[in-house]
Amino acid sequence: MRGEPTKADVLQYLTCWLCKGVYRDAHTINECMCTYCKGCIYKFFGEHLNRNKCPQCNTELGGKPTESLVRDITLQSIVDWLIPDFKERDDKLKSQLLKQINEKRAIKGTLRSSSLGLPKNKAKQLSQPATSSSVSQGAGAADEPENTSQQINFEFKLLPFPDDDQHLRMPELPKKLKFANKNKTILTVKKHIHNYLREPIDNIELLCKNFPVADSHSLEYIKKTKWQNQNKVMVLQYKRKRRIMQSNSEK
Ligand SMILES: [Zn+2]
Ligand SMILES: [Zn+2]
Repeated sequence: MRGEPTKADVLQYLTCWLCKGVYRDAHTINECMCTYCKGCIYKFFGEHLNRNKCPQCNTELGGKPTESLVRDITLQSIVDWLIPDFKERDDKLKSQLLKQINEKRAIKGTLRSSSLGLPKNKAKQLSQPATSSSVSQGAGAADEPENTSQQINFEFKLLPFPDDDQHLRMPELPKKLKFANKNKTILTVKKHIHNYLREPIDNIELLCKNFPVADSHSLEYIKKTKWQNQNKVMVLQYKRKRRIMQSNSEK
């Protein structure tokens, strides 16, 4: 043990097992006291309808597992206290997302009732929400109005992870220092690696300070929650995923 714990040390204990990110609207399971982001745990039980055990510790939760979830105000307030500006951003993103969803719903409604009345190209435009651009931009980055958010001024290093297992090591990239928009997601970084090294995106794992980072998180978010050192260029490392659960996770 060495001296005072850092913010990063504390944040490690405030990390959702499902998304590997810091809790967003922390919810704790009463029976086992495992904590997740609200969105993550509801999504999990929504996608695994036959599953009524805690995903992390396998405690049996009965017929309606979501009923054992309790909002964890204490934990969440610690997170919000440690990274206050993240909460503000998160709230803003949430309200933006809600607005987008409502707008899409409204468009769908009008399409259903009056698609025949619309000029052809307009109807086509509306029925095809910008799928390609939203995929390439990743969650959160799309449709952000401010110009500043589009700037490419986030600096980070991308290095191969020196895994003990030779087979999991990947070659170096031609350039190690990268510049991107701070809202770009980890998935975008994986696509970038794929473009150079031809490794399938699903096979690539990214780590920050030896911890895996989730596809949906932005570079800025990783820097705030995992890297923690605002004055040093963030280092992300990449390696091949170890394949263990293949037969288990098959649909
Ligand atoms: Zn989560
Ligand atoms: Zn549990």
